[in-house]
Amino acid sequence: MKAMVLEKQNDIMESPLQREDLAMPVPGEREIRIKVHCCALCRTDLHVIEGDLPSKKRRLIPGHQVVGHVEALGPHVHRFPLGARVGIAWLRRTCGVCPSCEMGRENLCDSPEFTGYHAHGGFAEYACVHEDYAYAIPAVFDDAEAAPLLCAGIIGFRALKRAELPPGGRLGIFGFGSSAHIVAQLALYRGAEFLVMTRDVGHQKLARQLGARWVGGLQDAFPEKVDSAIIFAPSGALVPRALEVLKKGGTLALAGIHMSDIPALNYERHLFYEKSVHSVTANTRDDGVELLKVAAAIPLRPQVHLYPLEEANRALQDLKADRIQGTGCLQIADQP
Ligand SMILES: [Zn+2]
Ligand SMILES: [Zn+2]
Repeated sequence: MKAMVLEKQNDIMESPLQREDLAMPVPGEREIRIKVHCCALCRTDLHVIEGDLPSKKRRLIPGHQVVGHVEALGPHVHRFPLGARVGIAWLRRTCGVCPSCEMGRENLCDSPEFTGYHAHGGFAEYACVHEDYAYAIPAVFDDAEAAPLLCAGIIGFRALKRAELPPGGRLGIFGFGSSAHIVAQLALYRGAEFLVMTRDVGHQKLARQLGARWVGGLQDAFPEKVDSAIIFAPSGALVPRALEVLKKGGTLALAGIHMSDIPALNYERHLFYEKSVHSVTANTRDDGVELLKVAAAIPLRPQVHLYPLEEANRALQDLKADRIQGTGCLQIADQP
């Protein structure tokens, strides 16, 4: 099968992904093999490829927002029939026995595995996953719309929960990439308003199109306080700025898996009046199921920009340079 393989972590501008022909993966016990139609791109792919996150697997196929159909079954599979359309997300395996797993907080598992990081992901024609960690894809979405929901959507959904946005509340969004443009639609659906700060002019335009109450750049000041805020950009320098625009009792959620250092905070300006900061760590499978359900009810429409598999390096370069409005997505095969 064709795949884009990371031999060694490196700057994406060096095009570190190489096109290779590999043997088809063989589905193990309770695993399904998926013929990949689409795999969306995520900033975490950049962190894995460029080495912001330590390497876990040599000669890795990245990609963790995979949509395709079940094409082969390993032993003892019973959840999905051949031909079912399914998704593979970042959370790939949890231990089931650590204190976090026992409390139902599997996103905090002591020994989790992630797709396109500990194991091969979806920048390839085929990918395998344990059936318990695959998601049924609602029919209302085409492949390219469904793919961004599997990380940008799920993590955005969890970030929105962690931001504790009150009904009809006002949400500040810092950075307006793939996940943020989905969160904006979720917030509107809940009757909330959103304000966006992002440096990129294209992202500012998309925020306006989606109905932002206010859009500004890094040099601008928020015109009003917000109940909740989410930082999507991997920049710790935004943390004090976001805390300053929170109302009393407000909550800031940090949605990224990686963030640069946070500057010193001033207690009175940034944290007093019971302001809270919540990080967001992966997701539970329940988050994924809930997100797909609400996304189908809206229905949520991610804005997707397609690239062929062979152009994964260029697509990720575009992601890094903020040249993609919405979500970048590799189109690997047509839906049968
Ligand atoms: Zn665990
Ligand atoms: Zn992701």
